[in-house]
Amino acid sequence: MRLFSDSCTAVNKGTTTFTTITQDILRDIDQRQSLNHFLSVGKDSAIVQAQQSDERYAEEKPLALDGMVVAVKDNLSTRNFPTTCASKMLGEYRPVYDATVVERLAAHGAIIIGKTNMDEFAMGSSGENSAFGKTLHPLNGDYVPGGSSSGSAVAVAAGHAHASLGSDTGGSVRQPAAFCGIVGYKPSYGRLSRYGLVAFASSLDQVGIFAPDIPTTATMMDALSGHDANDATSANLAPTQAMATLDEYANKSLTIAVLPEEIIKDCSPEVLEVYKQCLDILQDNGITLLQAQIPANDAWIPTYYVLATAEASSNLARFDGIRYGFRAEINNDDDDIMTLTRSQGFGMEVKRRIMLGTYVLSAGHYDAYYKKAQQARRLIYDGYEHIFSQADALFLPTTPTTAFKFGEKLNDPIAMYLSDYFTVSANLAGIPAISIPAGNAANGFPVGMQLQTSLFQDERLLSIAHRFQQLFQS
Ligand code: GLN
Repeated sequence: MRLFSDSCTAVNKGTTTFTTITQDILRDIDQRQSLNHFLSVGKDSAIVQAQQSDERYAEEKPLALDGMVVAVKDNLSTRNFPTTCASKMLGEYRPVYDATVVERLAAHGAIIIGKTNMDEFAMGSSGENSAFGKTLHPLNGDYVPGGSSSGSAVAVAAGHAHASLGSDTGGSVRQPAAFCGIVGYKPSYGRLSRYGLVAFASSLDQVGIFAPDIPTTATMMDALSGHDANDATSANLAPTQAMATLDEYANKSLTIAVLPEEIIKDCSPEVLEVYKQCLDILQDNGITLLQAQIPANDAWIPTYYVLATAEASSNLARFDGIRYGFRAEINNDDDDIMTLTRSQGFGMEVKRRIMLGTYVLSAGHYDAYYKKAQQARRLIYDGYEHIFSQADALFLPTTPTTAFKFGEKLNDPIAMYLSDYFTVSANLAGIPAISIPAGNAANGFPVGMQLQTSLFQDERLLSIAHRFQQLFQS
């Protein structure tokens, strides 16, 4: 992995330049193309941006993200790269504008290295649902790197970016971060602009950040956050000050909520072992643990999959073969262009979600499914409020297992959906959540642990996460 702080130190000492670092990264990406983590790489534009960073460094007028090599998930609109959502439906589609977060990356001097592979339209937990082939785990090519932001996680884990952007609707940043041994952060809903993020389930979608460590994550967040008039759900708050407050919780006495044993016990033995070690470390460091009751935990996954599919069925209606990307060929007068385009353009999982979502929204089922799910969502939010009235944060595993093998869950959608068990509730409640590396399991794969705090307490979350990552690494 490549630490942004190490690169900055080396450039400051004069031992290298950002241009050289970027060239090294471009060479490394080429050498490990088999990972299939990038869908497009911007060689020339990245070098130009790196040279500009070097110039601003030489003039001692660096911008906040100067020299930071960043990879961007391919569902964020970019003018200079195609934006495919890893779907045949969008093919070579090139937006005419940049997503706000992409615009802010560039405005702060970041070097945008390329667009990353993902599960089609961000639907999946393994990276296997891409129309352009699966992304491989950097440690073992027989294993999934997690998803749906598979390529963005692998880019950071393999040292091919200092940081990357993903999207997290139900865990797609935290889960692959856990599988790949890096930090994955989903901010509070509304804290990063969704303008230019291709919508999957709008009330759950958040742009998220991957990095090896918390300082890089915080630096990115401070630069990219802040109100955006182009996004009606953007929180009217100033940019975060996470770097300035990173040490705020370094020595404070902390009360951390943990879930009851019966919710945790179904995790794999590898994850359970690391989880227990972490609890010991926390207690040894004087942190108070509080058993928390969280209502409706049985409803997390069903609620998420009802609401996410309902919103997806509506959001994906726009892909009709008329306005963007792919259009099916018409061979005779009876052919219906929209039906043909959607049948040929979408992959299996996307079709499954559209069908499920259309079903739960249909007149006869709306009250039984969609309305019920909205009520359960409220209960989940209230449950969190109660926890955070007693504790500074909630600590829980990110995933029930470590990385699994390709094909293991592909034909069993329920098993695949259950791998989101610990992540979806934060999206349902809109609260910030982060996965931090907590060590390796006995099987050699990384294990991630998660922290969640109350709505808009993003600085607090990052500060506690910074302390915990140091504790778990020492
Ligand atoms: N794995 C979850 C799903 O398939 C989450 C996806 C996401 O966060 N984008 O819906």
